[in-house]
Amino acid sequence: MKVLEDYIAKYGQVKPGNVLKVDSFLNHQMDVSLFNEMGKEFKRLFADTEITKIMTIEASGIGIACIAAQYFNNVPVVFAKKSQSVNISSDVYATKVESFTHKKTCDVIVSKQYLHKGDKVLLIDDFLANGCALRGLMDLANQAGAEVVGIGIAVEKGFQKGGDEIRARGVHLESLAIIESMNAETGEIKFR
Ligand code: 5GP
Repeated sequence: MKVLEDYIAKYGQVKPGNVLKVDSFLNHQMDVSLFNEMGKEFKRLFADTEITKIMTIEASGIGIACIAAQYFNNVPVVFAKKSQSVNISSDVYATKVESFTHKKTCDVIVSKQYLHKGDKVLLIDDFLANGCALRGLMDLANQAGAEVVGIGIAVEKGFQKGGDEIRARGVHLESLAIIESMNAETGEIKFR
């Protein structure tokens, strides 16, 4: 998606450890008109897919998912919560996700009230790196008996393994911008 690539090229900062910082429009301050364009594009890409729910993970996926939902008949948006508690209650589905940016593992939960057998779920997230966050969301959906009918990602780092691994499972995964390579020393970002 050209406009997203333009934003990344203009405002993205490449940090050591393969981290792209896009705080000025995606991860801290949010550019709502860009999110609108992203929502429209997700709708175009998943136009033929029946979707009853959008699911994401806190925090940065929430804004993107909410704006996107407006293009999918305002289906409910459920975000998986990162839980600090050691006691996981029986009224939630729970899984573990290793955070790419913080390098720590946390429990991620979603209430059984909001995810059901028969739900057709579109997963949305800001970044795809090694795929840990998406695998966690897929696990939660699976526990509920819900079906993951698609995955929409804003920025995929194509040089990391998550995208290939998840596509190999046969899931319809679409990324609006795929980064082929990035260099923390020169700041250069190349798109696929
Ligand atoms: P994964 O679980 O696929 O390894 O990483 C995806 C998650 O880590 C996303 O939810 C996102 O929050 C975070 N993440 C991964 N790589 C980056 C990055 O380069 N920049 C930012 N801002 N977040 C990232």
